[in-house]
Amino acid sequence: MNDNGRRQFIAKFGLLSLSALSATTLLQACANGDAPAETKGSPKPAPAPAPAAAEEELVENIDCSTYNQNLTETDLKTRESLGYIEQSEKADQNCTNCRFYNPAKFKGDCGACQLFANGAVASGAWCKTWAVKEA
Ligand code: SF4
Repeated sequence: MNDNGRRQFIAKFGLLSLSALSATTLLQACANGDAPAETKGSPKPAPAPAPAAAEEELVENIDCSTYNQNLTETDLKTRESLGYIEQSEKADQNCTNCRFYNPAKFKGDCGACQLFANGAVASGAWCKTWAVKEA
């Protein structure tokens, strides 16, 4: 082998070695759970938005009808379509003994209904979707 051939051999061998070293490093990074350098700087997913303050707060002794003054037209239509009334006309059916009632949402004589996205319902109210609360 002359000098030219030797140089070509060393150049090719050197390139092969560098390629093998790069591949090995990349595989080790993947095996360790590390992301390749290009993806390490990727943005994290945005945190979920905080629930509205009204959703988290307990309102003491709330007057249901006052609280419900801020209901949207859609909220009111939902209530109307379900035949919601503030005072049940059935002796054994009201929100208190309905499976959809959540008394812990508010303090006082109001609670939340799982079927209504917004607003409070009176404990003695009723609607067509009343269903007995299971013990
Ligand atoms: S489904 Fe009707 S009866 Fe039951 S909690 Fe809601 S509003 Fe009250």
